[in-house]
Amino acid sequence: MLSEKTETTKLLDPATWAGRIFSGGEWASGSSEYDVMEPATGQAIGRLGAASGADVRKAAKSAAKAQRSWAAMPYEERAGIMRKAGDLWRQHADEVRGWIVRESGSIPPKADIEINFAASACYEAAALPSMAYGQVLRTPQAQLSMTRRLPVGVVGVISPFNFPLILSIRAVAPALALGNSVVLKPDPRTAVCGGVTLARVFQEAGLPAGVFSVLPGGADTGAALVEDPAISMISFTGSTRGGRLVAEMAGRSLKRTHLELGGNSALVILDDVDLEKAASIAAFGAFNHQGQICMATDRVLIAERVADEFVERLAAHASHLPVGNPATGQVALGPVIDAGQRDRIHRIVTTTVDKGARLVTGGTFEELFYKPTVLANVASTAPAFVEEIFGPVAPVTTFRTLDEAADLANSTEYGLSLGILTTDVMRGLALADRIDSGIVHINDQTVMDEVVNPFGGVKSSGPGARIGGAESNIDAFTNLQWVTIRGDLPQYPF
Ligand code: NAD
Repeated sequence: MLSEKTETTKLLDPATWAGRIFSGGEWASGSSEYDVMEPATGQAIGRLGAASGADVRKAAKSAAKAQRSWAAMPYEERAGIMRKAGDLWRQHADEVRGWIVRESGSIPPKADIEINFAASACYEAAALPSMAYGQVLRTPQAQLSMTRRLPVGVVGVISPFNFPLILSIRAVAPALALGNSVVLKPDPRTAVCGGVTLARVFQEAGLPAGVFSVLPGGADTGAALVEDPAISMISFTGSTRGGRLVAEMAGRSLKRTHLELGGNSALVILDDVDLEKAASIAAFGAFNHQGQICMATDRVLIAERVADEFVERLAAHASHLPVGNPATGQVALGPVIDAGQRDRIHRIVTTTVDKGARLVTGGTFEELFYKPTVLANVASTAPAFVEEIFGPVAPVTTFRTLDEAADLANSTEYGLSLGILTTDVMRGLALADRIDSGIVHINDQTVMDEVVNPFGGVKSSGPGARIGGAESNIDAFTNLQWVTIRGDLPQYPF
């Protein structure tokens, strides 16, 4: 439900934020300014400030200063601010949707998923401040022994462009609710929906100044967050390459990192399913948001016996999906984020065809609009099989036995999501047991996220990171402390 409109004031009036960064509770000048681009038209639709290393140091300092009094604030007050933030997402859904559609090239239903998630993330976070935050432990000593979960301090959040609102708010909301302050660096290409919207919502919700800052900027700004001594941990969502660099940098100061990284997820289709439904499921997993989803169906593995019919049906779905500007027409796919991303997708498609795959449909583009593409007979050594594509491409590879299916699914450095389609659910689960993946969906495609599920991957998709749900969020954004208390001073034999 996105239509609760009880406020008429604008949340995102550019007069408030144009050309600025949000630091220490104020909309201030950054070190430079840049244009916010609309990928569908190539037009500038706004202006933002960009943050330098000096801006990061300033924001981190004020975040550290504000954090202790924020953490000490009564839990009802912190919860109230999170609830108000949840309400604001709903009240200003139309404005936020408009920015998500134009700035990130999303179709409106995808924008609504982001806004609903943002509201739910704030409501779920509102429950965290009042939760029990430790345990009383058994001890043979004359003492009270217990654990406490304490805020980490200042959390640096670095987020990507594809689901800019969800991937920022899913870390920002629980980190704040648990008593941390946060410095957010959104991707500069989507810093309005992944940054400005959050700054304005929490400003309007009454978050004290300095507790939250938003610093748009590129990799250098992100690196400055990782290196700043006032920032206690980094929550990074992005590519495996970026995550490796962040982890290396953080390792030098032993800074804590939480890494949610790339994927190359397989949808495994056994030979006993309805192939028309399977084709629709695979099309959604591969082409939704132009394939720019970490858990997109990047590889379709299908039983050889039914592969030809399946490929034909999948191609029919692909070629019927309208592609165009989601702000002006009803389309299924919008543009990809920029020319660099488009060229990368096209390179993967053409080199995979060069290596013997059959281009069944798609493989062409106009400006940033890439046609939904189906590749058949894709070898396990081809770029479309090996690399994360992050584009609207469904590479299809066949298998003869379940052993072969498991081997193919596992032959990737990633381990984020996995879908298995079969009428024999227990056979599907037994197959899943043999494939390394942080997430498994039996009888569904690979793209799914709810605010309460522990999201995260294994292998190069994320070394043990989990986000979402109270348990994972408390693990992610608090430090565990062991405390003992005695009534008087003990006597030692020394
Ligand atoms: P990216 O790693 O290039 O950028 C992500 C963010 O990190 C951006 O804000 C960027 O400015 C910043 N960054 C990049 N290099 C950095 C560095 N060296 N130091 C500090 N910050 C740095 O990712 P991208 O290609 O723009 O985004 C797509 C990738 O993100 C895909 O690989 C996708 O699978 C992944 N992703 C993962 C998840 C997840 O939850 N696992 C969700 C969405 C996207």
